[in-house]
Amino acid sequence: MVLPMRCGDGLIEKGARWEELKNSRTIQMERSRLAYLEKIKDVGQLIAGNEYSGSLGLDHAVYSYGATGRFHPAALIAAIKFAQSLWDKKRVERFTDVRAAFEEFLVRHKSFINQLGHSMGSRMRSVDSLLEMYGIILEGILAGDLTDEEIIARFQASPHLQTLKEPTDPEPDRLVRKRFSKAVQSAGIVREILSSRAKCTECGARLPPSSRSKDHKTPIEEGGMGTLDNLQFTHPYCNSGYKEKRRRSTAEGM
Ligand SMILES: [Zn+2]
Repeated sequence: MVLPMRCGDGLIEKGARWEELKNSRTIQMERSRLAYLEKIKDVGQLIAGNEYSGSLGLDHAVYSYGATGRFHPAALIAAIKFAQSLWDKKRVERFTDVRAAFEEFLVRHKSFINQLGHSMGSRMRSVDSLLEMYGIILEGILAGDLTDEEIIARFQASPHLQTLKEPTDPEPDRLVRKRFSKAVQSAGIVREILSSRAKCTECGARLPPSSRSKDHKTPIEEGGMGTLDNLQFTHPYCNSGYKEKRRRSTAEGM
């Protein structure tokens, strides 16, 4: 009688331990899954959304779509990595100073996203090439009065960007049809979105509706009220210390 009881006790004990182990493994898996999702959320918030004050609210119409209105996953990943690297290198403020000019450059040369986004091998290589291109454009714009041609000439230094060029004829005759192709329709939609986007009142760059931050024109501390007249929209980052910093440096410079 004793032995089976012991054996049973042992089994129960083993079973309990197994359950415990299984539960802790499940909990661990859930925890790491949650941590992973949180990380994705954090990274996603770097570029979009309006809840996180560090969100740059990067416009997918600017960063993720090419000249033909095609969505490029590699360009979306590159935009996330670009935002992450700006934070890591503490360059978000400098970027925001010239952000409008930087993004206008991308819009003027959207075909570069097409060329790098899908025609140069693997997706990660595309991401790296896009990141390299963003870096060169940003440095070129921060350098001052460079023309687009002068910035594009700097691509020659990179083996991945050397072949980039503006298409001389975006729609060769043989491709033009009487009916609007899907590509032409998509390009038309992206063009319309880009031209009708509101601009951030702080940095002047495009402001997607999903990343609007409500901002008091006259700050609450200075008597500003929640009236329609006193409402303006900015990127979350532009409304979280950047604005005040810029005002202070303008005031000091006066
Ligand atoms: Zn802004």
